[in-house]
Amino acid sequence: MGRTLLLIFAHPDDETFLTGGVACRYSSDGTRVVLATATRGESGKAGDPPLCSPAELPAVREAELRRAAAILGIAQIHLLGYRDRELATAPPDRVREQLVTIIRDCRPAVVVSFDPHGGNLHPDHVAISRFASDAVVAAADARYLPATGPAHAAGRLVWTPGRHPWQLVREPDIAACPGVDFVIDVGAWRERKAAALGAHATQHKSVERNFVSQPDRDRLLGIEVFRQAFGPVLARRPLDDLFDGLG
Ligand SMILES: [Zn+2]
Repeated sequence: MGRTLLLIFAHPDDETFLTGGVACRYSSDGTRVVLATATRGESGKAGDPPLCSPAELPAVREAELRRAAAILGIAQIHLLGYRDRELATAPPDRVREQLVTIIRDCRPAVVVSFDPHGGNLHPDHVAISRFASDAVVAAADARYLPATGPAHAAGRLVWTPGRHPWQLVREPDIAACPGVDFVIDVGAWRERKAAALGAHATQHKSVERNFVSQPDRDRLLGIEVFRQAFGPVLARRPLDDLFDGLG
């Protein structure tokens, strides 16, 4: 089996906003990209004007997620089935079992999730960061959940930026910013990322405001930034490849 990149996020659209470019880049080179999404985003926006009723929103957002994932080359999606805005109170043992099962099944070299503050302090983002960290460590310890398969130690856990990426990438010297451990050039895939953002049609206001209607759209869509949570000591900062040093 080739190498795997696992993305663990809270809502449909997190994967595209934060990792759409790296999903394209690594799926293009044969890396298997797997996504775990905790909720169907039913407490989010439905568009302006609304594209569906509140009752229809979870199914609509799931369909949007599947379209975006197909555009990004994501090979597999796991929906964890929690309710939007309620993830912080989900049973920790249950989430651990779900995520450890996924990790031991797809055996990722690199795992990506939110930073511990969730990027924007959204309670679901904070919660999935906590659950992802717990599960990455538990999956590596054979004493946890032996029925879910042999232990697997991911080589690296990285976090998305602690600031909105569309603000961070405008810094004149991004490499000097604390927490910038990986700056990934995804410019070759910016139109695919834009198409995946467009697939999240109910989120069109955020997509327009933060990305596609901005004068520096190409820069915003062409760079993704990550911080190392754990992994090999970095040869330098920032690196330009999430798999650097993993052999
Ligand atoms: Zn989110």
